[in-house]
Amino acid sequence: MNIHEYQTKELLKGYGVPVPGGRVAHNVDNAATVAEELGGERWVVKAQIHAGGRGKGGGVKVASSLDEVRQFTDQLIGSHLVTPQTGAGGRLVQRVLVEQACDINKEYYLGLVIDRGSQRVTVIASASGGMDIEEVARATPEKVVRETVDPAVGLMAFQCRKIAANIGLKGKQIHAATKLMRALYRCFRDQDALMAEINPLAEVNGGQLMALDAKMSFDGNALYRLPAITELRDFDEEDPKEVEATGHGLNYIALDGNVGCIVNGAGLAMATMDAISFHQGKPANFLDVGGGASPEKVGNAFRIVLADPNVKIILVNIFAGINRCDWIAEGLIKAMQDQQIGVPIVVRLAGTNVEKGAQMLAASGLDFIMADNLDDAATKVMATLGGQGS
Ligand code: GDP
Ligand code: MN
Repeated sequence: MNIHEYQTKELLKGYGVPVPGGRVAHNVDNAATVAEELGGERWVVKAQIHAGGRGKGGGVKVASSLDEVRQFTDQLIGSHLVTPQTGAGGRLVQRVLVEQACDINKEYYLGLVIDRGSQRVTVIASASGGMDIEEVARATPEKVVRETVDPAVGLMAFQCRKIAANIGLKGKQIHAATKLMRALYRCFRDQDALMAEINPLAEVNGGQLMALDAKMSFDGNALYRLPAITELRDFDEEDPKEVEATGHGLNYIALDGNVGCIVNGAGLAMATMDAISFHQGKPANFLDVGGGASPEKVGNAFRIVLADPNVKIILVNIFAGINRCDWIAEGLIKAMQDQQIGVPIVVRLAGTNVEKGAQMLAASGLDFIMADNLDDAATKVMATLGGQGS
């Protein structure tokens, strides 16, 4: 789960990471009030969306008067901000962060990620932070320093000093960076984060280090024990189909292909997507209906998959172990009768009560394309799509 920059900064501030003074604003008057209360002569108005690259897309503006704060807020709120990370449609901006502006001497990069290879939290840092960090990592990987954290002892001060020295920090800054990194790590560990990124970590004004931008994401499976983080969730930033699926206990992830998938079990769902790709098809989604898929759950699965206008065909792949194929068949028949399903449906059933399930589908008089196994199912999907001329 991702959160907004202003939320991340508030959270990090609580752990002792230095951030600029600032607050979120929902409209022009709010923004002017915040700027006035912050004081100073220059402010930064930053669009709050769950996507990076805002600087490049015009979502970060430096204002030199309260009028400009108003003007920039007016431009940003309500607009669809397009950045290199949003896609062509952009993201609707519903709020801005108004901050005191700083004079930046230098921009560094600091991130924490979970390295799946070593199964450990890894610190990543670079002397060349800022808006082109992706290019730095690609073209000059030697400029990126890494340090692995031993979970038994956490991020040690000597490791932080090493990172700080390796990115060119000197004297007092090494001490400040060590405090900052350890605060970031504490937050990461306490809040079950998957990723934390400070870019830029800036040397500002008189040499002080500050998190000018901050981004964090959290493990969705840990939210049950993170009430404060759960509250920060912004459903407007998430795919509405994914939000609805979560509400129905379905595990759905939208993708950009045209073959809708309804599968029980995450592993089987992955295998189904692989089979479709192997046959040169493109899955429209990942969907795991779970072990005990009731007819109601199957109905909800159809509704969510069909809400995606790109879906041209649906592949239902069920291996019934805990479940029973006749129950699934009941759900399929009911979904076909209740909903306007205007696309062909390929069904592969296996496991408990498979004959009974197949008989029910055949006896229903409804138009199911039956498949014997996963490969046959993927072949029939592609043949049917080909026959539609798409
Ligand atoms: P991103 O493009 O979405 O990652 O947004 P950032 O928050 O990183 O902002 C992009 C760039 O705006 C930064 O790399 C800075 O160069 C600049 N910026 C951000 N905050 C300030 C500020 O307080 N003062 C000045 N002068 N520039 C800033
Ligand atoms: Mn940034």
